[in-house]
Amino acid sequence: MSSVSIKINPDLCKKCGLCVHFCPQKVLTGAPGELPKVQALHKCAGCLACFDRCPDFAIEVEVQGS
Ligand code: SF4
Ligand code: SF4
Repeated sequence: MSSVSIKINPDLCKKCGLCVHFCPQKVLTGAPGELPKVQALHKCAGCLACFDRCPDFAIEVEVQGS
């Protein structure tokens, strides 16, 4: 069983919405111009697509366990 935590740093995030758009699991919500919210953490697959797309290193995904 693994658990995931996601943190969005509001000081770094420029609210571009890329992480919301590219999350295949629809974990994140928020329109461009808004700080994304972690809406459905339980659906997160830990794929890091959000992290990979974030141009500002504002989103952190930590996968614990196995
Ligand atoms: S790690 Fe993958 S599934 Fe989880 S929030 Fe990021 S893009 Fe979505
Ligand atoms: S991709 Fe990064 S900068 Fe853009 S909204 Fe998501 S966390 Fe913020």
